[in-house]
Amino acid sequence: MAFGRVAMIGDAAFVARPHVAAGVAKAADDAAALVAALEVDEVEAALRRFEAARVPVGKRIIERARHLGAYLQATHTAEERARSQRHSIPEAVLAETAVLDFLRS
Ligand SMILES: Cc1cc2nc3c(=O)[nH]c(=O)nc-3n(C[C@H](O)[C@H](O)[C@H](O)COP(=O)(O)OP(=O)(O)OC[C@H]3O[C@@H](n4cnc5c(N)ncnc54)[C@H](O)[C@@H]3O)c2cc1C
Repeated sequence: MAFGRVAMIGDAAFVARPHVAAGVAKAADDAAALVAALEVDEVEAALRRFEAARVPVGKRIIERARHLGAYLQATHTAEERARSQRHSIPEAVLAETAVLDFLRS
């Protein structure tokens, strides 16, 4: 996400899939982290600090997208179908989609 004196944020860095519903929060948090880093370091060091802070969050969002995607799309194997059934009930959908609690743990 950081290349010398250039950084990418939000969707330009990478897209949070729609079912995670984290695109706006990720873009805003990326921007806030960029500002915070630029307040304490010169540009290149700040962008490295920004990248170190935000890449792990981005990876967790991607992991979450894959986890949730298992019940939206993947039903080829027995394991996928089992996961699909477990997550297709309304309670699971309400508890798991558009909820960013997973970033806190
Ligand atoms: C239909 C839809 C529904 C969505 N629903 C949700 C939701 O419920 N919850 C959620 O969290 N996220 C949702 N998202 C995702 C969310 O909108 C994005 O993740 C978020 O807007 C990314 O913010 P951004 O600032 O990175 O990019 P953007 O919001 O795309 O902003 C990029 C800006 O750059 C401008 N631009 C592009 N090229 C140039 C150029 N060459 N020069 C100058 N300006 C340029 C564009 O006009 C745009 O204003 C949804 C997206 C879509 C498409």
